[in-house]
Amino acid sequence: MTTPLPNIMDLTLKELQQSMSLLGEPSFRATQIHQWLFSHHATSFDNMTILALALRTKLSETFTIFRPEVVERYESFDEACDHRTEKILLKLSDNNLVESVLIPSEERMTACVSSQVGCPFQCSFCATGKMGLRRNLSAGEITEQVYALNNMVSAKEPGRTITNIVFMGMGEPLLNTDNIIEAIETLGTRNYRFSLSQRKVTISTVGVIPEIQRIAKSGLKTKLAVSLHSADQQKRESLMPIAAKQYPLKDLGKSLAEYTASTGIPVTIVYMLLKGINDSLDDAKTLARFSRSFLCKINLIDYNSIINMNLRPVTSAARELFQQYLVNAGLHVTVRKSYGTTINAACGQLATPSLHAAQR
Ligand code: SF4
Repeated sequence: MTTPLPNIMDLTLKELQQSMSLLGEPSFRATQIHQWLFSHHATSFDNMTILALALRTKLSETFTIFRPEVVERYESFDEACDHRTEKILLKLSDNNLVESVLIPSEERMTACVSSQVGCPFQCSFCATGKMGLRRNLSAGEITEQVYALNNMVSAKEPGRTITNIVFMGMGEPLLNTDNIIEAIETLGTRNYRFSLSQRKVTISTVGVIPEIQRIAKSGLKTKLAVSLHSADQQKRESLMPIAAKQYPLKDLGKSLAEYTASTGIPVTIVYMLLKGINDSLDDAKTLARFSRSFLCKINLIDYNSIINMNLRPVTSAARELFQQYLVNAGLHVTVRKSYGTTINAACGQLATPSLHAAQR
């Protein structure tokens, strides 16, 4: 049986440069090939007419080109606010599946993308965590999610493109930081099909401290959102057992203070309100104390139910009381409306029954 050729889409630009050097080619060829793959969307090496025939032949003997395929599309419509959310299921070269979500609004077209197949952290409220970690996504697989969503946008509304990216899909982005940064460069700084500003990109994390420090030093201008869900160490451990024990709140708070001091970029503290668990005024007080030590805004979100879980969302009256306490404590608080719950596209819902069934 012949071994399948590696997928060239999985190489970073630097890895492509190393491959060119092994093939005896100058480094600028790697840039040309990368552009043909990610800017011109070449599906075959024969499309790369800028390259000599001998090199195209060499490339097709060494690599294959595989792009994730959209195998399912789901759409939900929230009549109350005239809001549509779309979710796609993408099949990867090894038959693994990931989900990506398009969140349109009048001013923005936000792509919510996955960074891993599954996730190792197993937070109690999250469907993705139930899958365990299968693998990291390559930079190409991350980039292609954005392109796939962008194709949907331009097919429906010619002239519009993705304007914002949030790494809040399946997986923990800061366990795959290299590929996240590579994808951000392809989608932004390299000036290919998009030239998306880093300020329009939000990386979400459960608080992987060494990687937060690395992002702070990297000079990236992206935004950081930290899924906190409780500012009480014990409670946080009950909700996010692995992440909370590995990255305790006292260290996380210190690292966020250093991050905001060195970047000047405020952090978003994401807090999912769970009825009877983290929604009391004492919880709000603990959260206010934790959040005062660094530049931040607090984003309250409602729990979106997933199957086989006993957790419940709070009432809007309870949310308003919680929010008011924080506002009175001098904090900047926003409430994130959840869209796409009917298609399991909202926060914590990715890795749906359809995905589990498809992967069985
Ligand atoms: S909430 Fe995020 S970190 Fe936790 S299990 Fe889900 S994907 Fe992983």
